[in-house]
Amino acid sequence: MATDAPESAVDVTCATCAAACCRQEVLCLTETGVPLRFTTQDSWGGTTMHRLDDGWCAALDRNTLLCRIYAQRPLVCREFTMGGMDCLAEREITDG
Ligand code: SF4
Ligand code: SF4
Repeated sequence: MATDAPESAVDVTCATCAAACCRQEVLCLTETGVPLRFTTQDSWGGTTMHRLDDGWCAALDRNTLLCRIYAQRPLVCREFTMGGMDCLAEREITDG
């Protein structure tokens, strides 16, 4: 098997990923209880997850790479499918 073959969804778990999807812009579309200190306003007045200078979501635990507000995470994060097309694309970008 070629070593540079794209990974398939069956290979994917969050345990083998450096939280690649937690560098995306995340809109807070519904009220899920996200603490305001982790949010900011975009230029259209929408609420988004605050991202630090290096792009990571402010709610990400940098030691464990796990979400610190998992039970309150935004809808966008809830609906992001592990092993889905967006997930695979983010992992590809992070792997370079
Ligand atoms: S959902 Fe996908 S991109 Fe996000 S942490 Fe899990 S494996 Fe990584
Ligand atoms: S809220 Fe949690 S799951 Fe969503 S991007 Fe931030 S750290 Fe990741």
